[in-house]
Amino acid sequence: MAHNPQHIHSFDIVICGAGPAGTAAALALKDSGLRIALLDKAIFPRDKVCGDAIPGRAIKNLHRIAPAIADDFRSTAPALITRSTALFYKGRRISFNWVGEAYTCARMSFDHFLYEQVADRTGTHLFPGHHITDVLRQGNEWLLHTRQGVSFTCRMLIGADGAQSVTAKTMAGRKLNRENHVGSVRAYYSGIAGMDAHTTEVWFDRKYLPSYLWVFPLPGNVANVGFGMLSSEIARRRVNLRELFHAFIADTPGLSDRMANATAISPLEGFGLPLGATKEVISGDSYILTGDAASLIDPISGDGIGNAVLSGRLAAEQAIACFRQNNFTAPFIAGGYDTVLQQAIGSELRTHYYARRILARSPFLLDAVFAACRMPLLKGIVQKGL
Ligand SMILES: Cc1cc2nc3c(=O)[nH]c(=O)nc-3n(C[C@H](O)[C@H](O)[C@H](O)COP(=O)(O)OP(=O)(O)OC[C@H]3O[C@@H](n4cnc5c(N)ncnc54)[C@H](O)[C@@H]3O)c2cc1C
Repeated sequence: MAHNPQHIHSFDIVICGAGPAGTAAALALKDSGLRIALLDKAIFPRDKVCGDAIPGRAIKNLHRIAPAIADDFRSTAPALITRSTALFYKGRRISFNWVGEAYTCARMSFDHFLYEQVADRTGTHLFPGHHITDVLRQGNEWLLHTRQGVSFTCRMLIGADGAQSVTAKTMAGRKLNRENHVGSVRAYYSGIAGMDAHTTEVWFDRKYLPSYLWVFPLPGNVANVGFGMLSSEIARRRVNLRELFHAFIADTPGLSDRMANATAISPLEGFGLPLGATKEVISGDSYILTGDAASLIDPISGDGIGNAVLSGRLAAEQAIACFRQNNFTAPFIAGGYDTVLQQAIGSELRTHYYARRILARSPFLLDAVFAACRMPLLKGIVQKGL
């Protein structure tokens, strides 16, 4: 579509993407006095392929932005509190109780909740249904074109456009790194027998370690069931993830019985997870990348929502500092944003990255963990059988 110069909107900051990272940034910018635009190619409410486990870090960071946002989530969102996680392997079960506050909530609801918070609590200009296609530099400003023929200019750009980020590709030269990227599928099921509404389930099979199949409960006797595998492994093994998903369920005693009368109530949909811990460029002159656009997903758990909200909040704080000091240079932004983010989650991501690699090479370690949990000292957390 031709770009009509009459359809150019100018802002101080444009946030590209209204998932958890983009909405967190918009919420954290609420008192900045800056003119902010939040763009998304989707119209909300919109779905996002995910496991729907909302980590405590997401709620903590929403609380940091404004306690009332976290309170609103607790009192209004259709979510289930997660009290424990059960790990299943070779017919045994280990369960861990959660100390922190975590939830399951369908992304359709969670992301819409955040979007509504932005609409209600901030003066952000919302542009749903605007798909960014090009990001260009024009003097001191960014010029963004959308598929809809509307263009935007801004002094500062926050890239929050997820795993297939146009902003990360254009500004930071991001390329797919199959060694640190997971391909995943998930579907919603109703009527899985024996679900506990407050227990998330993780099922291992030695053949696929460190990959796992998850069964996460949601309100209304629904569960989110999914499976993911490193993209390089998918290519190496030449597997079809959809077939593997169904085979995993069929071949796993305990799970197959419980799912025998369950009904899939959604298609099995796929999406990618850019894992954290690699040295990606996450900011530069007048821009900051957040969430999946900055590859911040935990390499072991696959959690990315907490880091998305954290990075959105930190990006907003850095953007405010840039405007206050009239300094938009790459070193200034890296010193304030990259460094603080690294301090917060850098070592956690690296540790989990190496743990994932070790488990992939030495699957017997999982046998050792399950065996150790049979020892008297640890037996309290183990429940035998399925
Ligand atoms: C199968 C699967 C299971 C997962 N399970 C979990 C889990 O249980 N718990 C967890 O914490 N994490 C999970 N994750 C990771 C989690 O989904 C992401 O880390 C999280 O969504 C990142 O948030 P974000 O805001 O960075 O990106 P997103 O949530 O992807 O939001 C990006 C937004 O940008 C918009 N956008 C994209 N491109 C453009 C464009 N060109 N122009 C305009 N708008 C654009 C999109 O429409 C979208 O709304 C899972 C991921 C997958 C794929």
